[in-house]
Amino acid sequence: MKKNDEIVLEITDMGVDGAGIGKLGKIDSMGMAFFVKDAVIGDTVLAKVMKLKKTYGYAKLLKIIDPSPYRVEPQCPFHRPCGGCQLQALSYEKQLEFKENKIRNNLMRIGGFEAKDIPMEPIVGAKNTYHYRNKAQFPVGRDKTGKLAAGFYAMRTHSLIPVENCLLGVPQNQLVMKTVLDWMERYKIQPYEEQTGAGLVRHVLIRYGFFSRQLMVCLIINGHSLPNSKPLIQNLKEIEGMTSISINVNEQRGNVIMGDTVHNLWGSDHIEDSIGGVKFQISPLSFYQVNPEQTKELYGLVLEYAGLTGKETVWDLYCGIGTISLFLAQKAKKVYGVEIIPQAVADAKRNAEQNHISNVEFFLGKAETVLPQFYSQAFESEKSIENEQGMLHPQIIVVDPPRKGCGEELLDTIARMQPQRVVYVSCDSATLARDLKYLCGRGYRLEKVRGVDLFCQGVHVETVAQLSLKKNVCK
Ligand code: SAH
Repeated sequence: MKKNDEIVLEITDMGVDGAGIGKLGKIDSMGMAFFVKDAVIGDTVLAKVMKLKKTYGYAKLLKIIDPSPYRVEPQCPFHRPCGGCQLQALSYEKQLEFKENKIRNNLMRIGGFEAKDIPMEPIVGAKNTYHYRNKAQFPVGRDKTGKLAAGFYAMRTHSLIPVENCLLGVPQNQLVMKTVLDWMERYKIQPYEEQTGAGLVRHVLIRYGFFSRQLMVCLIINGHSLPNSKPLIQNLKEIEGMTSISINVNEQRGNVIMGDTVHNLWGSDHIEDSIGGVKFQISPLSFYQVNPEQTKELYGLVLEYAGLTGKETVWDLYCGIGTISLFLAQKAKKVYGVEIIPQAVADAKRNAEQNHISNVEFFLGKAETVLPQFYSQAFESEKSIENEQGMLHPQIIVVDPPRKGCGEELLDTIARMQPQRVVYVSCDSATLARDLKYLCGRGYRLEKVRGVDLFCQGVHVETVAQLSLKKNVCK
């Protein structure tokens, strides 16, 4: 076997990034596994070998010889070159199965759990599997012909394929993008060029409140001000629902999208939205879940797993703009939130006020420093007041970290604080599995785990796990 060989593969599995996996030769443990992008489980395909490693390889899909019964017609013509919707050609039912398997496999492979010990509840699927996103971030650049464009970078190239009507987003995105591009054309505003670092406009961030119908536009620019901004603002504010127009400064090379500073150009510095009756103010830099309908399900599940009666003290670590904290606060005695982004903490405090929720307090800083520091200081000075308040010994700790998960320092502190329950909300079941393994080695038992699909058509999945403290555990 060598590069460029053409092979027939039966696709029997799919990898974590959604590529089809087929084994060449007998389907046994000795077979050589090939990853084939755009092939789905159940397909028989003709593929060309592109890269060979010792026990596996990568092959390019040439032809689908026998299509999988799970195949559906992808709705977006760009789904293959774009690569953002890796599962679009797979039926939604099968997408959910893929995600459940991914969670289970990670718990077994990384977490060391046995299949029989994984108390998995059925994944929460979505009703609307397209047009569910409340947030879009379009890169601005030039297409192959040099024309201004916004859309996505075709894989391994620096030319943009113009797609302003991504089917995951809201229809308003198109109008906003047309307005921005027309203005750039007219006033000769240059798009940012990754290779040289020249040019001004890098990305356009759009957020839409599904409930409030408020619209936010933030231009991410390689500079501190926007020339000829007046006509842009004039045209943008004509769009129905426009509430906030701002710029974000990002002069760094590299692929981080947002910089740290936001200047408001027009209207409010935030939009509002609400989930399950709780109102939220959202600034350009704050994290807010992208699928509001499924977020309601997610937070409902967190509340269920927290099992609150009204008497509990709760820590909500990685709290963002206080979304989960405020949900919990309605059923708890007191909730303490910790978050690293100052704007998000400011939003969280405003959100508590707006909703007249007074039994929450927010701390700015890293969860992995705030909690251990607080714990050791409180311990050393034997602050009995805090102790009485239950801060040191909360009944529940909720964590919702970014993809890298919680650090060991934080998990160690959690284990020493001994809450009765830990509710872990995760956007990456690999790091979740690693962290659950740690906590289960420190006196906790995995009680329930459940996926919630917030990213239909894509490969990511949110997971919520409930852990309880086993009895008679020494610190
Ligand atoms: N629970 C919130 C936010 C979850 S996203 C919600 O559902 O909306 C993860 C959050 O963790 C983000 O707001 C991010 O800014 C924050 N974050 C990232 N690293 C952190 C750290 N080390 N300590 C505290 N917060 C952190």
